[in-house]
Amino acid sequence: MFFKNVVGQESLKKRLIANVNKNRISHAQLFLGPEGSGKLSLALAYARYIQCRNRGPEDACGRCPSCLKFNKLEHPDIHFYFPTARVKGMDGDGSAEKKPKSKLFYKQWREMLLESSYVHYSDWLERLGIQNQQAVIYAEDCNDIIKDLGLKAFESPYKIVIIWMIEKLQYQAAPKLLKTLEEPPSGTLFLLISEHKDDILKTILSRAQMVKIPLIPDKEIEQHLADHYSCSLERARHIAFLAGGNFAEALRVLKSDHEPQEDFLIFRDWMRLCFKRDVSGMLEWVDKFSRAGREPQKATLQYGLTIFRQCLLENYHAGHTLRLDGEERDFITKFAPFVSHKNALEIIEAFNDSIFHVERNANPKILLTDLSFKLARLFKTAK
Ligand SMILES: [Zn+2]
Repeated sequence: MFFKNVVGQESLKKRLIANVNKNRISHAQLFLGPEGSGKLSLALAYARYIQCRNRGPEDACGRCPSCLKFNKLEHPDIHFYFPTARVKGMDGDGSAEKKPKSKLFYKQWREMLLESSYVHYSDWLERLGIQNQQAVIYAEDCNDIIKDLGLKAFESPYKIVIIWMIEKLQYQAAPKLLKTLEEPPSGTLFLLISEHKDDILKTILSRAQMVKIPLIPDKEIEQHLADHYSCSLERARHIAFLAGGNFAEALRVLKSDHEPQEDFLIFRDWMRLCFKRDVSGMLEWVDKFSRAGREPQKATLQYGLTIFRQCLLENYHAGHTLRLDGEERDFITKFAPFVSHKNALEIIEAFNDSIFHVERNANPKILLTDLSFKLARLFKTAK
């Protein structure tokens, strides 16, 4: 990952680069931003830039020994930590007592990042095969961090520790890390990455300099997709609209086989049935769609969230921001009056809950029936 591969975030890149060149690198920085905004990508580009032996004014060189090791994510002075959990087959060497920790999953982690550093937390759980479990950063990880930092830097002025999802740090593990954050060995740099500020321990929060990372404007996602993913401008625009500033989501939509138009038609039919309170139609729809599989179900629910957000914008007369045409635009214009400040929060929460449960293999028929009746009720409370 280079700065040039990070989608948008131009002013942030400039600031990070300037800090390096003015030798003002703070020893603990917290990259905080919503899902898909590019926190991890920025941290990777930043770490590469710091370690590069021959950096230019805008990016790392890509050719020096440090960059070459970085290409394979095998740099001896970059250490990654991330949430893990007990996983079947983890104890490859037969020691069933082994405790989970980042170093045991470094292979999967590298594989994921070499494909893309725009990842959802759920992508990582899926890769570990533990969609239904919680993953955490363990005390064992903190012991390893201390060990890593005790080593002499191999070949660079800095040892960089990148901790992904610091909000998942186990409470009991925190004291060990705090002490190191407070008095780090010289030449140590911590890059902490998080999506949920409120879930980070206050003591950690107060020890790190915050770098806030905003969502990516649609236009920049659209341009990036068109330039780098052989995607037509029209498709790129549609995907950017669906992604809502989240590039990990944009990539997910791009890779999914089904046409975005399909989401629209399925969603529109469903909403019409709920709106009319057509019970037998709703049940028929649920029956058919519950056989569609988890990914299409998730995609349609995500799509629904985008439409509800657009309806709210439309209601607040921000309709000119609606960068869509044709049937979708007509639908949103007609549908918007039924999604108001009185019911939008509840609708959005119901959709988010449903996505959460679909990811965890809930029974789709029960879930979608429940959601349909809820929507039928909520649409009547808009005014
Ligand atoms: Zn280099």
